[in-house]
Amino acid sequence: MLDSLSQRLSKIVKVMRGQARLTEENTRDMLREIRLALLEADVALPVVREVLARIKEKAMGEEVIGNLNPGQALVGVVQRELTAIMGGDLSRDEREINLRVQPPAVILLAGLQGAGKTTTAGKLAKHLIETQKKKVLTVSCDIYRPAAIEQLKTVTAQAGAEWYPSHTGEKPLDIAAGAVDYARRHFFDVLIVDTAGRLAIDEAMMTEVADLHKFLSPAETLFVIDAMLGQDAVNTAKSFHERLPLTGVILTKTDGDSRGGAALSVRHVTGKPIKFVGSGEKLDGFDAFDPEAMASRIIG
Ligand code: GDP
Repeated sequence: MLDSLSQRLSKIVKVMRGQARLTEENTRDMLREIRLALLEADVALPVVREVLARIKEKAMGEEVIGNLNPGQALVGVVQRELTAIMGGDLSRDEREINLRVQPPAVILLAGLQGAGKTTTAGKLAKHLIETQKKKVLTVSCDIYRPAAIEQLKTVTAQAGAEWYPSHTGEKPLDIAAGAVDYARRHFFDVLIVDTAGRLAIDEAMMTEVADLHKFLSPAETLFVIDAMLGQDAVNTAKSFHERLPLTGVILTKTDGDSRGGAALSVRHVTGKPIKFVGSGEKLDGFDAFDPEAMASRIIG
């Protein structure tokens, strides 16, 4: 069983008790424990380094040792820093879906195969219908997997949205053009575009989704990423961030037993807000991202 960050910090604080101030040595010990705990929570190494630098600076400036409960004070510093890095200062508006464009507002979903894009398309449609009374159309540009197109049809019906048919023989750009045209003619507020994903990053997939982006000029380009991806989250996020002007992130499968390190990594790499988290296969498992709750989960 791995020690959580709070357990690690209480151990260190016990050693530090009786010491009047933060010394180079006890600071080093403390940072080492935080480093290990973050790595165990699957935060990627380059991200851990930056987080540590920020925590070190903040911890030195705070009355950690002089505090009646130095352990709690230290956990507080870490908690606040992690929350800030994950977008704690962003307004609710910045985390909502941007629909302030000429309708239909296009939302492009991108990510690896299995990340949860199609499920997320259904969840997002339901969210926009229920919370904002929007008229939502969905379309799949995944011409490689007929099952993916069928799956989108199913979740769209569950969400109470409308599904625009597409077929494996068509080209993604033609499908997109047809869906936009249909959405305009039938006064849809939102068009959610599901795209093909591969099991690993490949050039053809990136070009395809980049072309779709160019054609659609989406109001939102959301990167969908599996919270269970762990250390791999950094490289995956990097590849998508380099090829697509992302506007936000949706973190899926937060019902799994991951400690949440992927959230920190993806935010660090893309600099974009994590807007929503998905949990479970049912469409109601969809919530606004809560940086503070995610920081607590990482700390353990
Ligand atoms: P896509 O290939 O990116 O479109 O991914 P899918 O939406 O098809 O999801 C892949 C698998 O993960 C499916 O079996 C989904 O039911 C499942 N899934 C999607 N989102 C979640 C989630 O938040 N939690 C859990 N436990 N499973 C999910």
